[in-house]
Amino acid sequence: MIETDILIIGAGPCGLFTVFEAGLLKLRCHLIDSLPEPGGQCAEIYPKKPIFDIPAFPEILAGELVENLMRQIEPFKPGFTLGESAVTIEKDQENKFVITTNKGTKHRAPIVAIAGGLGVFSPRKPPIQELSRFEDKGVEYIIKDPEMYRGRDVVISGGGDSALDWAIFLSEGVANTVTLVHRRKGFKGHPDSAQKVLDLAEKGKIRFVADAEVIGVNGSEFLESLTVKHKEDGLMEIATDHWVPLFGLTPKLGPIADWGLEIEKNAIKVNTLDYSTNISGIYAIGDVNTYPGKLKLILCGFHEGTLMVQSAFKRLYPDKNLVLKYTTVNGITGFDE
Ligand SMILES: Cc1cc2nc3c(=O)[nH]c(=O)nc-3n(C[C@H](O)[C@H](O)[C@H](O)COP(=O)(O)OP(=O)(O)OC[C@H]3O[C@@H](n4cnc5c(N)ncnc54)[C@H](O)[C@@H]3O)c2cc1C
Repeated sequence: MIETDILIIGAGPCGLFTVFEAGLLKLRCHLIDSLPEPGGQCAEIYPKKPIFDIPAFPEILAGELVENLMRQIEPFKPGFTLGESAVTIEKDQENKFVITTNKGTKHRAPIVAIAGGLGVFSPRKPPIQELSRFEDKGVEYIIKDPEMYRGRDVVISGGGDSALDWAIFLSEGVANTVTLVHRRKGFKGHPDSAQKVLDLAEKGKIRFVADAEVIGVNGSEFLESLTVKHKEDGLMEIATDHWVPLFGLTPKLGPIADWGLEIEKNAIKVNTLDYSTNISGIYAIGDVNTYPGKLKLILCGFHEGTLMVQSAFKRLYPDKNLVLKYTTVNGITGFDE
């Protein structure tokens, strides 16, 4: 049983920053995330994209923001249960929450902060027969480790930011060949990235197959080729080691939706006084919550986490006087272990 003061579900930017604000109040945190790495959407969807609206950072890559947050919370020694989803919640005799993951790991805390963002990520899969047979045998929906593609032939599908960013990244000395198959000639992604893909295509570093879509996956044990249907030229076969269809991720609140929380349009309703939910002791911060005027922005989630831990402290120590102390005055006193 993992014990902590605040159990945070979701290690995205908002969950991570909450560890810092809780640490200033001497509250310990443990985070659960279904992904193998912390960082939420920033790490999983757009690590190499710059963000321009983080206060005091005119520009920062999403991946760097996560690295900075991890450095910032290091003194407060948070615990992590990664690669596991929080599935069930119960109350024990001491009025503490017991949360169990899909792998059976149990966590116990008096306060739960749900920072689940878009929920458990589930990729949009193209409706292709036999697709599941090649999952993790050449077909991947998320690029976790680009090193996996070193020296390999890779086909990427999609026209959004992820497809463009990864096509550019892999074509720059990582993959042996990169082919981008897209249903249209234009892209939904950032115009700068789109231009870069077209430039790389002209230089022969990316093969861009426009007006086409993958309709078949072929191979014996591992993926060997794709059947591609072109609007005018008809069917063609592309030999490849990997196919990465990047058609986005569907938001699914997942198991949290069954915890008795008040839900509105796939998000958890909260009181903006302290971001508490309808269940006493459970808060919701970041993209996962909703209230009048809600903006799904990182800086708003940072604010929500900051107010939330103040309320959690008062709940845990009703007799203690909580005085706001500036970090410039007090510095950061972390935990020894
Ligand atoms: C392409 C793109 C560009 C963006 N650009 C900007 C920008 O410029 N500025 C800005 O402010 N915002 C931007 N955003 C939005 C920003 O990324 C989100 O507002 C932010 O990530 C929300 O953080 P979060 O911590 O609330 O949730 P998330 O980052 O979504 O993290 C939530 C985490 O919770 C985990 N989780 C969910 N349910 C469970 C469960 N049951 N068990 C275990 N783990 C669970 C998920 O795996 C995930 O890791 C952008 C988003 C995208 C997609």
